[in-house]
Amino acid sequence: MIDRRHHERFRELLDSAHRFVLTTHVNPDGDAIGTEVGLERFLISRGHGVRVINQDPTPPFLKFVEAQDRAVEVYEPSRHDPVLAEADLLVLLDNSAPDRLGRMERVMCASAGKTLCIDHHPTRETPWRHNILDEAACATAAMLYELTRACGWTPDRVGAQALYVGLATDTGFFRFNSTVPRTHEIAGELLALGVDPALCYREVYERNSAAHTRLLGHALAGLRLDAGGALATIRITREMVERCHAESVDTSEMTTALLATDGVRIALLLRELEDGRVKVSLRSKGDLDVHRLASGFGGGGHRNASGIVLPGTIERIEAEVIARATELLADGR
Ligand code: 5GP
Ligand code: MN
Repeated sequence: MIDRRHHERFRELLDSAHRFVLTTHVNPDGDAIGTEVGLERFLISRGHGVRVINQDPTPPFLKFVEAQDRAVEVYEPSRHDPVLAEADLLVLLDNSAPDRLGRMERVMCASAGKTLCIDHHPTRETPWRHNILDEAACATAAMLYELTRACGWTPDRVGAQALYVGLATDTGFFRFNSTVPRTHEIAGELLALGVDPALCYREVYERNSAAHTRLLGHALAGLRLDAGGALATIRITREMVERCHAESVDTSEMTTALLATDGVRIALLLRELEDGRVKVSLRSKGDLDVHRLASGFGGGGHRNASGIVLPGTIERIEAEVIARATELLADGR
């Protein structure tokens, strides 16, 4: 839980710094970009200098979150290492794990002594000097909303929309069990500031390419069921991606269709990455803890939504993860 001490710490830290750099995890999602843009608006309103620098570009479906004149920058060592060196405070949002910083891991770890981490992922230990962590929070956006409100900030339209997108996407538009009364209260306050929820949904979820839809069809047609129908698995191979011309498609939401199948309690999506490794997206319902399962393979995430990236063939990884997921279903937790 975040309490008054965190609010005070947050305020003190921000007041003691002038030049900020904000960053987040690889493959930024709605909560990552939403909290970066939200915090950027807040810092600008207080007269601070701020740069947002990420390892990966903002995916097209989240570009609408960025302020028009302030696109998020993509990390280039020669250009950005001096910016990080000169910053007073680095803020790492929606991520506490160094290994999810990609090419920025080295420079961020070297600057850990002046880094504030704000995150809601389960974390064992972090190298960061300052940490505001709340595993129970439904989104980093909810944490940031409370922190900035406690500083007396009323978000402008861009900031409110950014925080709303973080809140809405990380809760599956308010349906995951991390959703609590306060989640809806915050959403209500953001709507009162002018956020258009239908526009946010449309931008994030209704702008898939035809290639994406075809790829979804191919993947779903290959549905595999195990554990008496409680475990659903689909695969996306390089061959399928090429056949559908679906190169840069974000596929992790395809698990929604698996969980929508009656009786399914764990969903797995395996995807062959361009670099030869395999990404596994894991989703579960209720108490079934796929985070523990993912951790066993060196991955991470949350109880009901986790991910792993592994070297090896898709066949072997599928067999191993299915075996562990079947055990988890047999244990019941
Ligand atoms: P997705 O399947 O949507 O990519 O990821 C689901 C969740 O798992 C996200 O909240 C993300 O934090 C986490 N996650 C995804 N991939 C990885 C990974 O390779 N390592 C770790 N530690 N967490 C991951
Ligand atoms: Mn998040």
